[in-house]
Amino acid sequence: MQYETIFFDLDHTLWDFEKNSHEALTELADKHKLIEKGVSSLDSFISEYFTINELLWEEYRMGAISKESLRYERFYRTLKKYEIEDLHLAKRFGEDYVSISPYKTHLFPHSVDILNYLNEKYSLHIITNGFEEVQHLKLKNCKLDHYFTEVITSERSGYKKPDERMFHFSLEAAGATPQKSLMIGDSLEADIVGAQNVGIDQVYFNPTANSHSTILTYEIKSLAELKNFL
Ligand SMILES: [Mg+2]
Repeated sequence: MQYETIFFDLDHTLWDFEKNSHEALTELADKHKLIEKGVSSLDSFISEYFTINELLWEEYRMGAISKESLRYERFYRTLKKYEIEDLHLAKRFGEDYVSISPYKTHLFPHSVDILNYLNEKYSLHIITNGFEEVQHLKLKNCKLDHYFTEVITSERSGYKKPDERMFHFSLEAAGATPQKSLMIGDSLEADIVGAQNVGIDQVYFNPTANSHSTILTYEIKSLAELKNFL
């Protein structure tokens, strides 16, 4: 199969979401004095947040919650776990988080190497459910923006992965066909099944060796493995 176009997911695929988010949350917990307010352990706060954030992103994908609500609700619900019911604090926390986290620049190992390699042979693009202004900032701050011709966010397209229309919009923007395209991402539901449904081959980036029964084109634990077949 001769591919011409590669679509990358961004969060948890190139941009190390957990590491970056952990760093941002640690700074914000300090700024907003969460320990003094009754949060017993920062690690447990962050792990509660990750669970709640994941859940709310699922709701956002399904259109059950708006971008604005998602931004503070994830902190409102996390703080509530520690009996801190403070909408004002949750909103400030949410605003601070969005202004700090895009400046965090931890990437998964081999990201830059593999992008240099792929950039010589393929046309590269991003398909992300993340927010327009945040995702562009992340790419710029990580010095990754120059690799990607099109950055398609859910806000730009009006749809979210795994919606087929998100992929059709992206193919059109990139001037690509499904047969000669490849989607690389960490989400079985959004990236892999989404791409499958429109006839795009997929690479499941699975660094934590999550077990699953989805039939897919390729699976890798490290981005460096892309060189084995691309
Ligand atoms: Mg992702």
